[in-house]
Amino acid sequence: MKKEITFTMIKPFAVERQHVGQIIEAILEHGFRISALKMLKLTKIEAEAFYEIHRGRPFFDDLVQFMSSGPIVAAILEKDNAVEDYRKLIGNTDPSKAESGTIRHMFGSSIQKNAVHGSDSPENAIIESGFFFNQLERF
Ligand code: ATP
Ligand code: MG
Repeated sequence: MKKEITFTMIKPFAVERQHVGQIIEAILEHGFRISALKMLKLTKIEAEAFYEIHRGRPFFDDLVQFMSSGPIVAAILEKDNAVEDYRKLIGNTDPSKAESGTIRHMFGSSIQKNAVHGSDSPENAIIESGFFFNQLERF
């Protein structure tokens, strides 16, 4: 049977701080297989489309501005129970509330600059993976 997938992005501040290697290492250590990976910079329009569900929230404009401010690393991760297990590995949205040992606790510096994104459901993982990767880029 095919394993579940989740989608992640390493956000601009964490890329700029050179945390990509350590974050990928933590992902692999926790048993995820990387089935797609790339570095790219989102346009404002693309960031708006990705975060469309948050349109209208007070933090939306800042979030779009931040997510299009520099390169990100996007990846598809595969594992049994990938979505839930990855949410556990990244920790609370607010790094100051994230448990020690979680990626956001280790590498996040604010609720906006919280190091990584992780899909919140298997359905959204499929949509988000398709947003970033075509079939030729998935293994
Ligand atoms: P993500 O979707 O990035 O994995 P999440 O599911 O934990 O994070 P969401 O509620 O989906 O959190 O919010 C999406 C992103 O919007 C957060 O990761 C964070 O960067 C930003 N965000 C959420 N709430 C706030 C807030 N109150 N102030 C500023 N930014 C926020
Ligand atoms: Mg979310």
